[in-house]
Parts: sequence; structure tokens; C-alpha cells
Amino acid sequence: MEPGLAPAPGGLLDWRDAQHFDHYRTAPCALCGTATPMGSHPGEPAHKTCAENWIAANPTEARRGRFASDIQPRSRHDDDHA
Ligand SMILES: [Zn+2]
Repeated sequence: MEPGLAPAPGGLLDWRDAQHFDHYRTAPCALCGTATPMGSHPGEPAHKTCAENWIAANPTEARRGRFASDIQPRSRHDDDHA
């Protein structure tokens, strides 16, 4: 699954895809060190709230996409033109 855009600093990540939640194991969060089943698109373990706090604290680095929201499925209404 392709990552989308990083949210604006202070915004919330959209991690509703199942790939962000590992049902079988936890790993130490890259940001706070506490075990988490959550992870980023490249598979870096991190709590969603920790990632959001990191984006708020590191807005410049965040734009490089370390933590990004899921791409939203396009609305089908846009395909009605013809
Ligand atoms: Zn954490």
C-alpha cells in the first residue's frame, strides 16, 4: 500500500488500513520505546499518537514522509462527467 501525505503539524494521521496494526507481535516504538503493535508505512514501529507528536515537533522532517496518512480512495462521483 502506498503512503499518502504527512498530515500538517498538529493534525491526525489516518492509519485505518490493517497494515498499521500487527496482530501477532509488538515492537518497541521508535519514538517512546514502549511496545506497540502499530507501525508506519515502511514498517517502523511507532504509536500513532507518538508519530503525530513527532510530526508536530519536527514539521520540516515530517514533510519527507517518515509518517504519512493512508491514501484515501477517490470518490466515484468524480467519474460521472461523460
Ligand atoms: Zn510510542
